[in-house]
Amino acid sequence: MLAAKAVLEQGVHVEGINFFTGFCVEGHTHAIRHKDRAKPKRNNALWVAEQLGIKLHIIDVVEEYKDVVINPKHGYGANLNPCLDCKGFMVRQAYQWLQENDFDFIITGEVVGQRPMSQRRDTLPVVARESGAGDRLLRPLCAKLLSPTLPEREGWVDRDQLMSFNGRSRKPQMTLAASFGITEYAQPAGGCCFLTDPNYTQKLEDLWRTRGDRRYELDDIMLLKIGRHLRPRANFKLVVGREEGENNFLEGYRHRFTHLRPLSHKGPLVLLDGTADAEDLRLAAQLAARFSQGRDAPEVNIGITRHDGHSYELSVPPLSHEEIPQEWYL
Ligand code: SF4
Repeated sequence: MLAAKAVLEQGVHVEGINFFTGFCVEGHTHAIRHKDRAKPKRNNALWVAEQLGIKLHIIDVVEEYKDVVINPKHGYGANLNPCLDCKGFMVRQAYQWLQENDFDFIITGEVVGQRPMSQRRDTLPVVARESGAGDRLLRPLCAKLLSPTLPEREGWVDRDQLMSFNGRSRKPQMTLAASFGITEYAQPAGGCCFLTDPNYTQKLEDLWRTRGDRRYELDDIMLLKIGRHLRPRANFKLVVGREEGENNFLEGYRHRFTHLRPLSHKGPLVLLDGTADAEDLRLAAQLAARFSQGRDAPEVNIGITRHDGHSYELSVPPLSHEEIPQEWYL
């Protein structure tokens, strides 16, 4: 927002690009979960573009992005976040877009030393080089600490009016925002996508391990954001809705999975991912009973609909808390 504003202020025509990878945090989960209700249910990129009065292009890169997540040349950060490859990928996509749409240069909000992997003095040139954007990549917030880029040398922007921010502190950004009259903005956070989240990463690693390869589809990675995930056996896992919003979301997927729901008591929809024999289904039913309001009842009646459409009911004693090993929780 600030980088775009700094360049807009110089009279340059700016448009925004937002890449949808499927791992984005905002909007989706906040819209589903009750506990996140207080957070704005908005696409922040659209909101920022509206604040700035610029056009925004939202580009779906779900397919192309898979290779970045599965085979990052520069490896991962603390979790499964391939930040350096990701930045290079996004700037490369933006550079292609620029060429197709007759724009002259790219602006990012990167700051030297702000992030441990992709925004170091030695990695900023990697992004410029590997994306192909070279010196058509301008970082207005720290431009004065870097060599002059083409837009600066050509006088398209005045380098003297750009910034020299450095390091992790966001104070200079906040001061600049205030000078622009910007009072509302996204709070600085650990990362912009679920790949930086250790819980999410654990579920993605489990998915890859149990499938025996590292491929994924969009629905796989969306489902990893929702519900409580338990793997009681190597051949199947359960996704248990934690609240009404999640149950409603999971309803949309139930036809693709064997699914269970308590009939005698209120309780969540449970999806079963994998293969399950009669004994596995009984265990799944006992777990579904555990997460229902009948958890203290001697028996709970569970409706089971198999993947092939066959439905039946099973009356089972709920598993007790002690009977569920901690390692079943992903
Ligand atoms: S945190 Fe940001 S830079 Fe890192 S992988 Fe996710 S989207 Fe890419």
